Amino acid sequence: MAQIIDGKVISQIIKNELRLQVQDLQSKGKKCTLVVIQVGNDPASSVYVANKKKACEYIGISSRSYELPEETPEQQLLELIDELNNDAGVHGILCQLPLPKHINEKRVINRISPQKDVDGFHPQNVGALMIGEQGFVSCTPAGIIELLKRSDVEIEGRHCVIIGRSNIVGKPMAMLMLRENATVTVCHSKTKDLQNICRQADILIVAMGKPKYITRDYIKEGAVVIDVGIHRDASNKLCGDVDYKDVEPVCSAITPVPGGVGPMTICMLMKNCIDAMKDYS
Ligand code: NAP
Repeated sequence: MAQIIDGKVISQIIKNELRLQVQDLQSKGKKCTLVVIQVGNDPASSVYVANKKKACEYIGISSRSYELPEETPEQQLLELIDELNNDAGVHGILCQLPLPKHINEKRVINRISPQKDVDGFHPQNVGALMIGEQGFVSCTPAGIIELLKRSDVEIEGRHCVIIGRSNIVGKPMAMLMLRENATVTVCHSKTKDLQNICRQADILIVAMGKPKYITRDYIKEGAVVIDVGIHRDASNKLCGDVDYKDVEPVCSAITPVPGGVGPMTICMLMKNCIDAMKDYS
């Protein structure tokens, strides 16, 4: 039977570690503050924002939120970001995506100070990751590295195949695995013979956004499988990009959905907030 890589347990351990760090900072008179901006009331975004606030509360990070109406002009949002960039009491700024269609996401991401960009989306932070310099790393891939390390999965020298090349998951994931000395292959929708490439993976990371697409035919016996996808299946149950029931018997370790990668993302956001404070105050 495969080892279940339990993101719920691992994220709880990290949250407790972060809580201690925050208590230590507080004893030195330092208070860490995250600002979350939400434009409009997309229900999924509201759930994510609420979960972020809950995690902040648990760890001891002070959170402030701006809930702006759907029709907020882009200029008004950019001015709010400028204000927060200049506020020394704010350590992390996060603008919940997606934004309404009339707002240019790229302009918003680029406006957040790289020193407060706890999502790790600003081009300066993305570039820093690329050339191996310090900066904020996108939370989902950073969380996957923690999951692998804390589950004693050896990364160095192993062949890691990543399905997906998005800016927030696939590409930063590839850079992080390279940093850990894996040999990395990145696949995407134009990749030929995906199955054959996946079958060469010691570690397969799936971030393709296609429910239960990856079956055991894509898995080398004994591989480690990390499932980033989140979907609802026909019976409204959460599932990933990997067909868990089919794949679990042939791999050596696997993340479930829910309870695998998902809980790690918020956890890494909290870590980035604390790092923002340590580095810049
Ligand atoms: P995305 O931006 O839609 O990217 C999907 C990637 O998969 C693209 O690079 C696409 O290739 C590739 N792809 C699609 N179909 C493919 C196929 N048949 N064969 C090979 N590659 C294929 O998605 P994302 O933002 O990276 O997210 C991926 C999944 O992870 C989604 O289900 C999302 O909900 C989930 N997610 C979860 C978390 C979490 O915290 N657990 C965080 C972020 C995302 P092209 O580039 O060629 O189009």
